[in-house]
Amino acid sequence: MDSHVIGVLGGGQLGRMLVEAANNLGIQVAVLDSENAPAKQINPSEKHVTGSFAKSSDVKQLAGKVDVITYEIEHVDTKVLEELEEEKPYVDGTKWSRIQPSWKTVRTIQDKFIQKQHYAKHGIPTAKAIAVGTSHPQGLKDIADQLEFPFMLKSRTEAYDGRGNYPVESVKDIEPALAALKDRPLYAEKWANFKMELAVMVIKTAQEDDQDSWEKNTLAYPTVETIHEDSICKLVYAPPRGISKQTTKAAQDLARQAVSSFLGTGVFGVELFLLEDNSLLVNEIAPRPHNSGHYTIEACHMSQYEAQIRAILPGLASRIPPGATDLTVKAALMLNILGGPQKDSHLLVAQAALDVPGAKVHLYGKGDGRPGRKMGHITITGSSISECEIKMHPLIQWVDAVRA
Ligand code: ATP
Ligand code: MG
Ligand code: MG
Repeated sequence: MDSHVIGVLGGGQLGRMLVEAANNLGIQVAVLDSENAPAKQINPSEKHVTGSFAKSSDVKQLAGKVDVITYEIEHVDTKVLEELEEEKPYVDGTKWSRIQPSWKTVRTIQDKFIQKQHYAKHGIPTAKAIAVGTSHPQGLKDIADQLEFPFMLKSRTEAYDGRGNYPVESVKDIEPALAALKDRPLYAEKWANFKMELAVMVIKTAQEDDQDSWEKNTLAYPTVETIHEDSICKLVYAPPRGISKQTTKAAQDLARQAVSSFLGTGVFGVELFLLEDNSLLVNEIAPRPHNSGHYTIEACHMSQYEAQIRAILPGLASRIPPGATDLTVKAALMLNILGGPQKDSHLLVAQAALDVPGAKVHLYGKGDGRPGRKMGHITITGSSISECEIKMHPLIQWVDAVRA
């Protein structure tokens, strides 16, 4: 299919599903992560590198073995990527950047405050954000005067699954919030009084950042509804429940416009807030496959993982046909399986899924579970959301029981 070798920074569940897609296409993937990381387990290769995506010497070692570098996580060392690009910008014999999407995109996104400033600069609606320059409580009191209570105190960097967020409801939360997030660079974000959280996976196929060409340079997957519990994604509904076609289309268009403002190709996960007046805000964007796009494996012509593989390779990116992102079913529902109190608690959920016809189980091979750790997911497709909900109901109960 394509003889270029892809190098992936990070080998967790997203890397593993990326490898599954690459295997089907006969495309080689080398992974940089710890030994026996989920993505390596299903992909014997002499090109894997044992180490960390945050360590420059390890990233360089991977770069020496592959043609194109991509990510399954945004918390990578972008300085070394910048150096690697200076040394050798393109895939041999092409004008195709060998780092996709661009390290510049990842650098902007990995600092959530800079990411917010990027949206403001590009006219993309997002919640107002103010940098927190001091850990003195008075600084946050002044910010509260501008944002009003409640607001969200967030770590600018290294955030995931809500670890890095602290809702500040009144003056009395200020000190505990600063204590909980101490030693991290912070910013404050206006509270978004959303009625629903939406997400859209977007494929970007052009290397340049050109917002005016978003209709040409991007493709959108269907808009989905995401339900978070304790700031961790729990359920994904495709399509969203009780939302007009006009709103789902507006979400896709906004997501595509936002993604077109970034450099490089690949898939991007766009998280959105739908407000009471049906207006939309971009919460954040991940420059990689995303939890809200797992459902595409069973429910769309082409999964988000196959899309990532195709979009980052010279010669394949321009050959994603319109319609490839369409649903092949009327509805899909995805449930995350998190770790529980025992190291194998999550397996109770996976085992319960054996009794549900059509429940597709994905276990990530992460070893021992811990409370809140993403260990797997289940997707059910059907002819309506309510059919999927009925089938998923006992599994949601298992998830809640494991969590309790
Ligand atoms: P991940 O990268 O795993 O999606 P994260 O740690 O980067 O998570 P966010 O996406 O910033 O965190 O926030 C997690 C959740 O917290 C959101 O999905 C939303 O439910 C809630 N949240 C975040 N920001 C706000 C806000 N400004 N107003 C209201 N709720 C918010
Ligand atoms: Mg995030
Ligand atoms: Mg998020």
